[in-house]
Amino acid sequence: MAVIDIHNHVTPRRFRDAVQDGGTWHTLDADVAELHIPKFSIAPEDRIAEMDEMGVDIHCLTVNTGFFKYDLPAEVTKVIARECNEELAEMMREYPDRFTGLASVPLQDVPAAIQEMEYAIKELGFVGVTLGDHINGRMLDEPEFRPFWREVEAAGAAVFFHQCSATVVESRTERYGLPNTIGNLTERAITFGTLVFGGVMDEFPDLKICLGHAGGYTAFGIARMDKGWRAGAMENMPEFSDARTILERAPSEYLSRFYYDSCTYTEETLRFLLDTVGSDRVVLGTDYPAPMILDDAVRWINGLESLTADEKRAILEDNPARLLGR
Ligand SMILES: [Zn+2]
Repeated sequence: MAVIDIHNHVTPRRFRDAVQDGGTWHTLDADVAELHIPKFSIAPEDRIAEMDEMGVDIHCLTVNTGFFKYDLPAEVTKVIARECNEELAEMMREYPDRFTGLASVPLQDVPAAIQEMEYAIKELGFVGVTLGDHINGRMLDEPEFRPFWREVEAAGAAVFFHQCSATVVESRTERYGLPNTIGNLTERAITFGTLVFGGVMDEFPDLKICLGHAGGYTAFGIARMDKGWRAGAMENMPEFSDARTILERAPSEYLSRFYYDSCTYTEETLRFLLDTVGSDRVVLGTDYPAPMILDDAVRWINGLESLTADEKRAILEDNPARLLGR
């Protein structure tokens, strides 16, 4: 078995080369891609050397989320997604033993997103898609996205959720890095809540969804979601009246339907996550090469005293392989 990192990012070199002297690339300029961190677009062989140093056999590549661009005209985003997917596919073709990938799709246009997903899987060899937590403010339980979920399930595609653009925290404060440190985790809990309460997980029982950043506050907040679901059965609780109009079972019963990456940073948090969602649901995810990377993740996980050898192998090898259908 191989050690697989399912959370890492690439800034396409074709984008970098086009914008580094002040140019634009399909309307985008240098601001979208964290070019001050050169490792996002290092050469594939240099990336592999870093993976070897980190003890990672396979990167499941995703593009830097600045390229999701759900807010641009769909015709433009279609081209951006295709170009990004083609570049990742080149890396996957050149080093098939070291790279696999999740494609980005223009989900502000559902038929176009389905088309790009099918092309990416059938023609380019991707194993699924990566998505932002919302599409211009619309959560993924909205009716217009059901055809997309139907095709994702039918394709057996893995899905990786990651924040993109502003998080919910920005409207309250832009200080102290909190839009990232609190916002990213909040976004992921909203994604869990809407997909579960909105019935997406019931309608499409075979979906394989991984929530980045360890699912954010999902595991910590699940008991309150359960309490809200129970309150939905009470007559004098209008605030919760739709908390169980769709959902027949407690939200906590859906924890084990999702995967969660290992970006927890402390042993206590990782142990809590494993105990809450199940040791068969946590996958290695490092966020390489972002500043919030889970440092030296493989050695860190292998050195944790509160995890069994079976749990370590599950996180590093078995669980990501199952998620990605390898
Ligand atoms: Zn990330």
